Parts: sequence; C-alpha cells; structure tokens
Amino acid sequence: MQKANIDWANIGFGYIPTDKRYVSNFKNGAWDEGILTSDDKVVISECAGVLQYAQTCFEGLKAYTTEDGKIVCFRPDLNAERMVDSCKRLEMPVFPVERFLDAVDKVVSANAAYVPPYGSGATLYIRPYMFGSSPVIGVKPAEEYQFRMFCTPVGPYFKGGVKPLTIRVSDFDRAAPHGTGHIKAGLNYAMSLYAIVDAHEQGYDENMYLDAATRTKVEETGGANFLFVTKDGKVVTPKSNSILPSITRRSLMYVAKEILGLEAEEREVYVDELKDMAECGLCGTAAVISPVGKIVDHGKEICLPAGMTEMGPVTKKLYDTLTGIQMGRLEAPKGWIHTIV
Ligand SMILES: *Cc1c(COP(=O)(O)O)cnc(C)c1O
Repeated sequence: MQKANIDWANIGFGYIPTDKRYVSNFKNGAWDEGILTSDDKVVISECAGVLQYAQTCFEGLKAYTTEDGKIVCFRPDLNAERMVDSCKRLEMPVFPVERFLDAVDKVVSANAAYVPPYGSGATLYIRPYMFGSSPVIGVKPAEEYQFRMFCTPVGPYFKGGVKPLTIRVSDFDRAAPHGTGHIKAGLNYAMSLYAIVDAHEQGYDENMYLDAATRTKVEETGGANFLFVTKDGKVVTPKSNSILPSITRRSLMYVAKEILGLEAEEREVYVDELKDMAECGLCGTAAVISPVGKIVDHGKEICLPAGMTEMGPVTKKLYDTLTGIQMGRLEAPKGWIHTIV
C-alpha cells in the first residue's frame, strides 16, 4: 500500500483530513447501518441540541504501525465502553461497543495510507464523537443523534526530546463533586479553555486542578491524569469520582504492579504531599506520559527531583514498557493490542 506523501516527523497535533470517515445516524429510536463517506462536512439544524445545550461527547485513541508491520490500536474496547458511560450521563443513545469497534476497523483500514510507518514517532489519531442533531429549544435531550469517527495523522509528541512541564495549581475548578468530570464531555473542555489560556499567558504549560469541594486534593489537568512516584518508589495516582478514567493511566498502573513489580496505589493525594514526591507525570493517549518538572502553588515552587531535563527513572521505565507493549517490542497483556490490518 502506498503511504500518503506526508513528512511524518514534522507534522504537529493538528487536523489533516483523510480520505474516509464513518457516520451513523440515530432516528426514531434506532441507529442506521452506518457508512464510510468522503464527505467531511456535517449539516444539521441551526437549533440542534449540540449547538444549543452542548449535548456531545467524544473519545480519542490511536492507530499505529508495530515493529512487525501490523496496523494496530491500543485497547479500543475501553474507549467504546467509556463512550457508553459518557452517553448515558448525557441522556444520549448508546452506540454499541461492537459497532464502535467495527467502525474503528473500517476507518483505519480505509485510511491505511495515513497510518504513519513504524519508527516515525507519528500516529493516526482517531476521534469518535456523538452529538444531538435534531432541534431542541426547551431544555431536553435531542431526539436524533449522529455518531461520527474520523482520523488524522499526528506527529511525534516529544519532538526534539522530552521537555518536562511546568504546571500551576489552578484557582479554577474542572469538575464538581457530582458533576461530569468522569465522562468525556465536550462541555468539560469548553469551560476549561479560559483557565488554560490564562495558564499559558502566565507561562505555565498546564493547570493542576484540585477537588472542588475542599481544594486540598489533586485531581487532574484539563486533559491528562496524574501519576506520581513517591520518594520510596511507590507509584501513586489520585482517586476521585470526578477524574476522567484515563485508559493510559489504568494501563500504566497495571504495568507498574504486574509487570515491573512496583508498589502502585490509587488513593487520595493531598496538595501538601506534593513536596514529598520524587516524580510526576501526566498520562493520556497523546503523550503516554509527559514528565512534570515543576509545580507552582501560588508562588511556592515545588521542583521535582527528577528535574527539568529528562524523565525520572521510574517514569521512564513505565514509559518504555508501555510504549514497548504498544509498538510490539514487548509482549502485551491479553487483549491490549487490537490488530486491524
Ligand atoms: C481523555 C482524557 C484523559 C486521558 O485519557 P486516555 O484514555 O488516557 O487518553 C485524561 N483526562 C481527561 C480530562 C481526558 O479528557
């Protein structure tokens, strides 16, 4: 198969349209069969539920080429299941897990020319999403919905080497205690934009959000979960009902415990403990783990001992093991790697 003429090492994280996307419509209480289409435009009512009341959720996963030349995805079943949870919480119809997985296969196969080659560091980012498409003016769920899935090639995350991040403890909240922080809803991102633009203006890479109720516990950033390593080598991730259950974080915790034999626990993490941490990283599909070098809490600087030039040793081991599994260099736990082509 002829690959698209793309300079894989030098594309960023932007939208590059590919040949085909998947579309299925929900009408009269049922999903239609779904099709692959070349049409990248969405036409909906000016009064669509998504446009008026933000009734929409999304997912994000990657397809990539392994060492032995296969095109695979990492744990897409977990993305499908998480989308089910998001849809239920937003009063949207569920897109069945098997159909989600079938759509991943169809979209990636149809756009195989855009799956970056092994070793390029680039990947094919897949974006499934759903939105209320029928008119809604009184506040209620829409009656009709559209599920779509497109993909776009994205460049290597750590282009030019790893640069640990500087983050700040935010005065804004990301999620309310019984709100929507645990689902992948567009609304969580819309209201975080003000805080991230402000963070960037102040010279920070990300916001560390605290629990909204007590503002004493660490939750996550706008789009990634935290993983800490304590000074005695324990891997710790914050536990809260308002954190988005990152698939990368859940996989890394498994790797820590079951493969690397480290102590790993999900528990409440207090802001007061940050000064005692040896390493800190942000986990998500895009980067797997980005190391944090410095956390600034209202003028008080907490510098992680791992420093601002490289990943800490435990973070690096976790990163190398998970990316090794993803790329087919290490044996994967059962069901983690889904082969498409
Ligand atoms: C998507 C997302 C993550 C990362 O989840 P992965 O499944 O690892 O990509 C973390 N936090 C938030 C708020 C997210 O939306």
